[in-house]
Amino acid sequence: MGYGKGIIEKYFNILPVNENTPVVTLNEGSTPLIKAENLRDKLGVGFEVFLKYEGLNPTGSFKDRGMTVAVSKAAEKKARAVICASTGNTSASASAYAAKAGMKSIVVIPKGAIALGKLSQALIHGAKVVAVKTNFDGCLKVVRELCEKYEVEMVNSLNPNRIEGQKTASYEITEILGDTPDYQFMPVGNAGNITAYWKGYKEINEKRGLSLPKMMGFQASGAAPIVEDRIVNKPETVATAIRIGNPASWRQAVSARDESKGGIDSVSDEKILQAWQELAACEGVFAEPASAASLAGLKLCLENKKIDKDFRGSVVCILTGHGLKDPDRAVKSVKKPVVVKESTEKVASAAGLI
Ligand SMILES: *Cc1c(COP(=O)(O)O)cnc(C)c1O
Repeated sequence: MGYGKGIIEKYFNILPVNENTPVVTLNEGSTPLIKAENLRDKLGVGFEVFLKYEGLNPTGSFKDRGMTVAVSKAAEKKARAVICASTGNTSASASAYAAKAGMKSIVVIPKGAIALGKLSQALIHGAKVVAVKTNFDGCLKVVRELCEKYEVEMVNSLNPNRIEGQKTASYEITEILGDTPDYQFMPVGNAGNITAYWKGYKEINEKRGLSLPKMMGFQASGAAPIVEDRIVNKPETVATAIRIGNPASWRQAVSARDESKGGIDSVSDEKILQAWQELAACEGVFAEPASAASLAGLKLCLENKKIDKDFRGSVVCILTGHGLKDPDRAVKSVKKPVVVKESTEKVASAAGLI
């Protein structure tokens, strides 16, 4: 032993796998739950704030938890190809796991709307990448139609194996805290992840009697179909991972919200980017912009007093993806480096040492 375990090995008994399932893993899961003490001081709150840093999964997002199960089940069925529509991270994950399984992967992405890091992953893993002149919702529609006509295995979160794999994050959080959190804040795009976490927490509640957290989901203001209760035809946001106007798991997200007595609200791009820089500058955690919707959401709930700042308990913010997925955005959002001549004094002066 000594090598890491993936989530299938770790959570074999709660996943739809058996001895005959060929396990396709990149040792996903077991991501850190970081205690955000600087942030807690800055917010001036009485509760503990934890960051579940899902950007440290093998391809840099939580999608890997679902993908290991979806691709393993596809391999069990002897599928030769997997297909997905993607805002980026699903394609990065699907293409990596397909490569590991020796399968073909096809990814359908909205043209010009996915972050460079994610596109580079799909390409280097050898996926057939097709950019379509539409948005994510249009891509998903095409993929669903292709799956009806051709023998390809769909690995979007409509595939229930994805949800099963992703629910393992609830178990990890509960293991580390020794209890379920009081609140969980997270971004909502296609709404598979909030569905998965809620399923995980409900199972834990049934098995161990631990209380259910309030699920707090956040969409971007320009792409907030669940909040506005209408399909958004032209979703717009800098947080490309949640730029979705017609979430596939809409109904399940509403159930998670209502059953947990939580909430789904929206946060502006400006607040998302602010929270994103704060996570990096104050906690040393570089997540991708969409991930920061969780912290922006927590701040919104403190502002409008939906959450009591003095309550004693635990709040987990899910950081869904890694910051290096979207380096362009970071470079565009901060001050450019100062350029000086080769001189100790000039560098000292520019660095603020003198
Ligand atoms: C996919 C993704 C989301 C949205 O998750 P859904 O399951 O679609 O709601 C949020 N952040 C990142 C980084 C993602 O990759």
